[in-house]
Amino acid sequence: MRLPRLLLAAALVPALAALSIAPAAAKVRVITTLQDLSSITESIGGDLVDAFALAKGYQDPHFVDAKPSLILKLSRADLLIVAGLELEIGWLPPLIDQSRNERIHPGNRGYLDVSTGCDILQRPTGQVTRAMGDVHPFGNPHFWTDPDNGRIIARSIAAKLSELDPSNRAVYEKNLAAFETMLAAKDKEWLAKMAPFAGAKIVTFHESWPNFAKHFKLAVAGTIEPKPGIPPSPSHTLEIINLIQSEKIRAMMVEPYFDLKTPKYLSGKTGASVVVAYPSVGGVPEIKDYFALFDVDVDALVHALGGTK
Ligand SMILES: [Zn+2]
Repeated sequence: MRLPRLLLAAALVPALAALSIAPAAAKVRVITTLQDLSSITESIGGDLVDAFALAKGYQDPHFVDAKPSLILKLSRADLLIVAGLELEIGWLPPLIDQSRNERIHPGNRGYLDVSTGCDILQRPTGQVTRAMGDVHPFGNPHFWTDPDNGRIIARSIAAKLSELDPSNRAVYEKNLAAFETMLAAKDKEWLAKMAPFAGAKIVTFHESWPNFAKHFKLAVAGTIEPKPGIPPSPSHTLEIINLIQSEKIRAMMVEPYFDLKTPKYLSGKTGASVVVAYPSVGGVPEIKDYFALFDVDVDALVHALGGTK
């Protein structure tokens, strides 16, 4: 009785295998860590991809809840796109391991680290250390907040999609060209809005904004966190009050996932505005894509910096 069943199973295996190989119209299943990366993937891949972000834009990307439902998503992925520089080190590696999906392991074809080729700031010059809990040991991992890096990220994603799905290379290249044209036009608008504030000093809660500040010619004079990932302390808060007063700083950029208690206290002491600024797509519903991210943040900053100038 056992032999015929085995034979039947043997006959079914090739049929099932054929089903699991993507048919011609199947979409490339892309999982990204950030919504910024899924937004750019959708711009490049259009209908040819199915993109899903593990972290939502209103979450701190260093600390994401590694839910079991995310493992299932990863187990089916053709491609995993990460920011890299250890931004996701606290939560992503166990998810990848548990997904049992060899394709998306670091170093394999289905894994893309988009920090490669980008302008990365605050690279360590000496030995890399996690002293005092620094969560940016290999340089600043919030680099997508510069549209010039967004362009490089889009090119990396287009190249990877073309590699995995070569029959649609022409579509990916056409979509990339459209993305770059749109980004150049929007960037001109953003730069024009920010131009009157060139050189303005700001304070930020976390070190999320050095690339943004560089692109828009702002200067991050200090952070409310004493070090990336370390909560505000009373002595450091006093230093920031002195800094804001001596440098006549008008605005503090605060990511949406931090407690506003210390920023509001600082504002009360100094008069500087608290600007809730969004480092990622999905931070609020109206930030539905990578372009809207800068639309919202630039307008909020222009409002705060221009208020009493
Ligand atoms: Zn960070």
